[in-house]
Amino acid sequence: MSEVHEVIIAGSGVAGLSAAVYSARADLEPIVIDGNEPGGQLTLTTDVENYLGFPEGVGGTELVMNGREQAERFGAEFHRGLVEAVDTDGEVFDIRLNSGDTFQTKAFIVATGASARTLGVPGEDELMGNGLSTCATCDGAFHRGDDVLVVGGGDSAMEEALFLSKFADSVTVAHRREELRASEIMANRAFENDTIDFRWNTEVTEIHGSAEEGVTGATVVSHPDGHPKEKQADGVDVTEERIDLGGLFYAIGHVPNTRFLEDTPVVLDERGYIQTADSEYETMTQVPGLFAAGDVMDPVYQQAITAGGFGTMASLDAEWWLEDQAAKDRAETVEA
Ligand code: NAP
Repeated sequence: MSEVHEVIIAGSGVAGLSAAVYSARADLEPIVIDGNEPGGQLTLTTDVENYLGFPEGVGGTELVMNGREQAERFGAEFHRGLVEAVDTDGEVFDIRLNSGDTFQTKAFIVATGASARTLGVPGEDELMGNGLSTCATCDGAFHRGDDVLVVGGGDSAMEEALFLSKFADSVTVAHRREELRASEIMANRAFENDTIDFRWNTEVTEIHGSAEEGVTGATVVSHPDGHPKEKQADGVDVTEERIDLGGLFYAIGHVPNTRFLEDTPVVLDERGYIQTADSEYETMTQVPGLFAAGDVMDPVYQQAITAGGFGTMASLDAEWWLEDQAAKDRAETVEA
């Protein structure tokens, strides 16, 4: 039988790293499964200006690399891979990775975060990373002098458009309705920027270009009542147009990375976020011993510092839960 660990943490963003630091300092010798975006979403950003303790800001990658070093200093071990399945039926959790590696653990902390949502249109797979991006702060500087399109109507879309306006010749925001979801302050900043234009009631149906040339354009559809793709699917006439572009950015929100939990008793909400149970352990799910932290369970705050806080809570909950289980086992042994 393989070794049974005390704590395994899935995810190495701020939530996972905070859980790792606390669990390691509690001598629980945590194993951290890196995930497919080691370091999480902060590695896709430039400066983090609102993380407490860094008056001049701190690079996102630097912050998570330091967190990893800190966790390793106390004995956390990092393992490359992606959790593919977890069996919650036995006395301990059986975790299987995409590499085929398996682990067993008494407590399992899920901090797998959320990934950028995509449209799933033709051209997307080939062009992702070749002029199509979900991260303006990572790729914006490649688009000096380009005409770029940002898809989305929330705060992220405004933020990306504003950032891109420093490099691109023109930035167009395509939103599927004619009312933004973004906060007034962010929307106003975008409205006041001369480089940024809006295409209302518009959606992208295809992205053109090649891996060699990058993005060269997109086909967009529009309808004055909004949601043109739905209308088109219902047989309603929409305006279709092909536009020339040098870059395209998705800013249409994130989806929590919880697919591997879909066939388990862990309760997910309709968007896939993990729901914690109403118990004495704030971060525990309906499955005893399985805890959740960060963007994978938090559709509201979604900040680095709150993710770190949730990671700490999950680690402490796991530690207390393990102690309680051990105490129960001892009591049962004495009774027998
Ligand atoms: P969001 O608020 O969920 O907005 C997503 C946008 O994408 C919405 O406008 C939505 O359209 C659109 N969208 C979603 N799926 C789409 C699809 N399949 N096709 C076309 N459009 C689609 O996500 P977010 O902008 O990433 O923001 C997430 C959270 O982070 C929010 O709470 C936000 O306030 C916060 N945030 C804050 C800041 C800041 O204050 N500086 C910056 C970034 C993010 P509909 O409006 O029609 O649904």
